[in-house]
This record gives sequence, C-alpha cells and structure tokens, in this order.
Amino acid sequence: MNSSDNINEPGSDQSIRRPDDDFGAHASTETGPAPATGDAAATDDQPVSTTVDIDAIRDKIQTFLDDGAALDDFQPMDEWDLCTQGRLSEQDILQGYAQATGLPVIEDEGLENINSFSGITFDYLNNWLCLPVSWDDVSVALAVATPYNLGEIAYHWRHLLGRKVEFYLSQRTHIERLLSELYEHKPGKGDIDGLAVDGDASEEALRDLALEAPIVRLVNDMFARAVEMTASDIHVEPSEKQLAIRFRIDGLLQTVMTPPIASYSAIASRLKLIGGLNIAERRLPQDGRTDLQIGRSQIDVRLSTVPSMHGESIVLRILRKNIELFTLENIGMGSELMGRFAQLIKLPHGMVLVVGPTGSGKTTTLYCVMNLLDSEEKKIITIEDPVEYQIAGVTQIQVRPTIGLTFAGGLRHIVRQDPDIILVGEIRDKETADIAINAALTGHLVLSTLHTNDATGAISRLLDMGVEKFLISSALVGVLSQRLIRKVCAVCKGTGLPASGFEYNATRTHVENTVTGEQTQTIRPCRNCAGSGFRDRVGIFEFLAVDDDIRRGIAHEVDNATLNATARKNGMRTLREDGESKAASGVTTAAEVARACQLDF
Ligand SMILES: [Zn+2]
Repeated sequence: MNSSDNINEPGSDQSIRRPDDDFGAHASTETGPAPATGDAAATDDQPVSTTVDIDAIRDKIQTFLDDGAALDDFQPMDEWDLCTQGRLSEQDILQGYAQATGLPVIEDEGLENINSFSGITFDYLNNWLCLPVSWDDVSVALAVATPYNLGEIAYHWRHLLGRKVEFYLSQRTHIERLLSELYEHKPGKGDIDGLAVDGDASEEALRDLALEAPIVRLVNDMFARAVEMTASDIHVEPSEKQLAIRFRIDGLLQTVMTPPIASYSAIASRLKLIGGLNIAERRLPQDGRTDLQIGRSQIDVRLSTVPSMHGESIVLRILRKNIELFTLENIGMGSELMGRFAQLIKLPHGMVLVVGPTGSGKTTTLYCVMNLLDSEEKKIITIEDPVEYQIAGVTQIQVRPTIGLTFAGGLRHIVRQDPDIILVGEIRDKETADIAINAALTGHLVLSTLHTNDATGAISRLLDMGVEKFLISSALVGVLSQRLIRKVCAVCKGTGLPASGFEYNATRTHVENTVTGEQTQTIRPCRNCAGSGFRDRVGIFEFLAVDDDIRRGIAHEVDNATLNATARKNGMRTLREDGESKAASGVTTAAEVARACQLDF
C-alpha cells in the first residue's frame, strides 16, 4: 500500500513551495554535493541542489530565543545544542527550518503506518537523518530532520536508488524513533536503542545514559509536547514489551509516545537526574521536584516513581508557573458575575466559598482571586495542600499532616500573624470550619473551598459539620459553585476535521484505488484537538450572594430547595443556565453542559 501513497501538500497554501521548484532551478552551489564527474552536463542527470540559507535559519532560530542571545558564530546544527540545553524546543527548530526553507512539514500523523524501505541501511538513514515515508518506482517522499544536506541526499537517491526525491521536514526525535523501530540495525550514534542497559548497571553507567543527546532530546520533546498539549500529568509506563508515555489532557489520559522499551532505563535515568532523585535506586518509591524552562513556558514538575513489574512507573505532575494567566476572565466568568465577585473579595471581612466536586477547578478560581488581591497593602497568607503555584508577595504554607501541620493547626497560627486575607485550601472538618469562620468574624477575609454539589449545598454542609447556624449566617458572604466543561475546538469548530489552510494540517493523504485509479482522500483528524472536537476547558458558574433573605433562611434552617428558590427569586443564575448560555454562544455544546451538570457525585 505504501507504494501508492503519496503525501500531498495543501493545494491552496501558496506559502508552501513544492520542494521540486528548487531542484534544477538553481545551479549547484557550495552547499551542494560534489557531483560525480562526467554527467554534470546532462540536464536531467544534473545533481540536484538546494541553497540552504544559513543566515535565514539563524535569524528564525534567533526569534525563538527568549534571552535575545546573539547567534553571531552560528553554524549549521548549532540549534541542536540549544535544543539539548532546553533553550529551544524541537518544534521551534522545525518551524524555523520550515520558514527559512519553505519546505513542507509532516507532523506525527503523517508518519503513522509507514513501512521500511528495502535496500537501504539503518546507518545511512541515521547518518543523514532521513526517513522514507512513501514511494513508488520513480520517486520517494523523504522526511528529513534538517535541511542542510538535501543536495547530497537527493543525489544519492537519484543515482543509487533511481528515485526523484520530494523532501519534507519532520521532528528529529520522531525520525530517530521510527528508524529505530523500522530498520534492522546495529546500535549506533544517535540511536536510542543502543542505550539499553541491564538491570544492575552502575550509577555511573546510568548517569552517562541520562546525558546522551538523543535521550536529552527525547525527554525535552516529551515536556515540550506536554506543554503544547496543555497536559497536567505525564505517565511513563514500562510493560514487558513496550513503553507507553501517556498525557492527561483535559482530565483524560491519552498515549502520546511509544519509544522502544530498550530506551526505558535511559529515559528513567534522565527523569531522575532532572528531578534530583537517586539515579541508582530502582527498588523503592521516590519523590522529587524541579523547575524547567520549556520553550517560553516556565513549569514546575513533581516526579513520583513507584517500582512495578517491568521497571518503575514514573508520573510527572506539571504545574505551569505563569500565574499571570490566571484571570477570572480566562476561566470563563462572565463580566457581570466578575464584577459582583470582585466587589465581594474587597470586603474587609467575611467568608467566601468556592464549591464543586473534585476536578471542578476550585483551586484555579482561588488563584485567580489571589491575582486580584492587593498583596502590596494587604497581608495575604495561604494554607494549601499542595501549594500549586507560588505567588509573589503572598505567604504560602504547605499542609504537612505527618508533622502535625494540618489545615486547622496551621490556621490557628496564621491568625496570629496579623493577616488581612486568609486562603484555606479546603474545609474538610468542623475544627477547620470553626477556626475559619471565627477568623472571618474577627476582621479577616477568608477564602476557601468545600466539596459540595451546589452553592446552597455549602450551607447545609457547614450545618452538617456542626457549625452553628448564626455563625454561618453572620460570616458567609457568598458561595461560588462551579464545574469545568470542555470548549469546542477553535481550529475545527468541533468537527474534529482539519481546517483548510491550517498550516500544520499539511498531511492529508491521497490514496489511489489501484483498480479504478480513483483518488480518495483520507483526512487526518484535527491536530489541535486530536479529532475530539474539544480543546481546553472553561468554567460554568452559579453564584449565591448571601443577602438578608438567605440569612433568614439559614436562621430558620430551611431546606436546600427552599434556599435555592429564594436565591433564584433574588437573581441567582444556575450552573445549567450559565452552561446553556455558553452553549448558545458556541463556546461549548449543550451535550457537554448536560454531562457536566449531571456528573455530580
Ligand atoms: Zn479540532
């Protein structure tokens, strides 16, 4: 089937030139190959060459460097050192190449289901960093990792294999991984399979492995992709025959990479080295953390390793540090509600609760609120489990039950530190509730979360905990209930299909029916959402303002339904109503809203 496949470029996009345009159009240059003598005069036989504009590549690469470092002495391949140092992502390099050369890019999807090309060695492909993707009797589509040797490569293929080459750019890590998987070979330079070690390798051997450039690149690529895909966790899971790297994106796990199992020890060693773990310890669980700069994103990574049957299962929690992204607007709060909420958190005292089930984005909302608070003029102290983001000017305390530092215990000390605003990560018990409410009644603004279904449920939950109703009605000023819903993918508008003219969907495959000669088109799914039609999440909200009517209700211990009716009469918009208005405006779908509102515990 491979022989009839042909990778096509998007016909409409004039910005992408066909690579053939270059071949033969230019005279051979200093960057071209040294042609064999004798046939240089024959037009058709003329060695193909492309002019690689090193300056253009350098200029593009420069734009991806945040620190503005000058690349005066830039040499071809220098960008790969920058990548190994983590200052550039492979995606940056790929984009730089594509923009500087006009060569089309094949994304991962275009590299699925390819076969090995017979009659060519692993060493050749690995040396020239190229991978045959599809071919017929006269031509071949080659994915290359760099544009530096196109002339030589084209010459080899034309003269030794009798094929005209069409070049595409692809990520180096992906080419190296596929070469490993597809071709019989001896271990060689740049080959991650060659980095396998036995179970009791020395610490030194493991450390050497962790510093091998292909491993460094593979791990960097993994982080870059996790950041790009907004993954919250990376799971590295070795089993008997394979290694799966899965990302949790918008709450769901998906397999993103499957490097050869032989590379497992090297990857594990690299991750341990990054996370400051004991590289030689493979029998006991370990925890660690580190800060990483991935492209332009600063991330905080928590690592956890647990020994399993076939190596350690490694889970990496990714926390983005650019707190400036946390705004109530970004999480989907409408302007009217935002205004009311902003007024509330300016109050000198009182308690504001954010409620919802696990994973409903309560903590994110609290961080958005923290961003609104004035840490210059006010003392803000938090007690959290865990401290997910560090905020300048705010004293943040991490709960540590093992040494007796609980929410309640910590809170007792916090109130003696003369704070204006206190954030309690979660109220789980009466003791914490009592101290928090007492603080709210004695001149502090207290922000916290509760695990309840709806806004009025927070009141019954506090009553159930045994908090006095008059304390609740005097301390509580507002309750925000929320859920997270998936947003319709902005690229494909929810169809899951690639949008025309979107540069990175340049991987449609034309499949020719060998009987009828008819061309049918297999369209790859939208890259932005992997075909799901959804990308990213946004909150839906229900806000209960505790007014006189509600206070009276609390004093009379009326049931939830009555409290709800009162709140609605006084203008409370329910979660479902907020969701429906977001569905009506195209942010999400009605089915997604129904799912989120029914999925209560
Ligand atoms: Zn999409």
